[in-house]
Amino acid sequence: MKFPIYLDNHATTQLDPEVFAAMTPYFLEKYGNASSKNHSFGWEAEAAVENAREILSSFINAGKNEIYFTGCATESINIAHFGIAESYSFKGNHIITTAIEHSAVLDSFNALKKKGFEVTILPVKSDGALDLNKLENAITGKTILVSVMAANNEIGTINNIEEIGKICRSKDVLFHTDATQAAGKIKLDVLKQYIDLASFSAHKIYGPKGVGALYVRSKIPGTKLLPLTFGGGHEKGLRPGTLNVPGIVGFGKAVEISSKIMDEEAARIRILRDKLYKGIVSNLDDVHLNGAWDNRLANNLNVSFKYVKAESFIAHNREIAVSTGAACASAALKSSHVLKAIGLTDELAQCSIRFGLGRFNTEEEIDFTINHVTETVKNIRSLSPFLRLNAVEANSK
Ligand code: PLP
Repeated sequence: MKFPIYLDNHATTQLDPEVFAAMTPYFLEKYGNASSKNHSFGWEAEAAVENAREILSSFINAGKNEIYFTGCATESINIAHFGIAESYSFKGNHIITTAIEHSAVLDSFNALKKKGFEVTILPVKSDGALDLNKLENAITGKTILVSVMAANNEIGTINNIEEIGKICRSKDVLFHTDATQAAGKIKLDVLKQYIDLASFSAHKIYGPKGVGALYVRSKIPGTKLLPLTFGGGHEKGLRPGTLNVPGIVGFGKAVEISSKIMDEEAARIRILRDKLYKGIVSNLDDVHLNGAWDNRLANNLNVSFKYVKAESFIAHNREIAVSTGAACASAALKSSHVLKAIGLTDELAQCSIRFGLGRFNTEEEIDFTINHVTETVKNIRSLSPFLRLNAVEANSK
């Protein structure tokens, strides 16, 4: 076993060696600019980009002309939001999202709010699911865009994208989904799920960092999407700038691998994830599961160990790479907005640990993790028993 054991696959994933092998020639030998029209270096680079576009489009049942390569999912999300907001402002100024989106969505909406758009942020239920009635009721005659993530990056919960898409289509409102965590884990079909725009990132599916994609349905009625940046007309002018050919080739290869092994991989990882959870709860009491158990990505486990601050867990742990549900905002600990949105107290949110399993984890690593987490949590609880006593006292009041 190699230490630390990587269990932070929602943050990023290890590049698949097959992806690396596919990319290498495009750094060293086939280094042409995909826009160079006068020689074979350019032609082979362009052919490789178009091959990747084909792979990604068939993966989500889109047309090849509907895929635009970007630098990351964040950029793709911003192009989608700003593009629709600016192009459709003639129709209305109301945009809708949910409280548990990634900051790429929430901050983009916030920036649009400052530009005068009216923003509705829908709450979610305690299991992390969006109440579809709330969505339906929030849509008005002025609504132009709904942006709801396909799967959550902290608690792994999966939204009913097809139903959300159906509601939006029936109300003539455009639907964007942030599919960054869902891609390669659950089946996505832009036609069946009534998706108008979708954002993706290569580094979450064992591809390279620095490459993303945006799907834009070609039959979106009305006007063309306005770009955020201006330049040489690449990607039909929506995302100008010389294409990252090795990165795009890697993205294509990563998608090709995922499309072949997705179901079998999810089944294998689910067994490991279930073993991890069962092992933890059979060894420890006062473990709180965050988000619905059934309706979540097979690789996600998010739990709060009561009375054990996540920062303390991290301080006592060097063996496993995991994330916490709290971030340090200046001196104070700031609880995750996702955990707060599903109803956790600050106390519990700040005790949360996110395990993100991936393609390269083994059963041996999970067995080690169960024991290591058990010992670490027991150790911290024994060092600060007063935390527990205080909590018991507070509960009995
Ligand atoms: N959306 C979700 C749900 C994510 O998990 C992430 C990355 O953490 C992003 C968007 C941003 O992706 P990128 O790093 O490609 O900008």
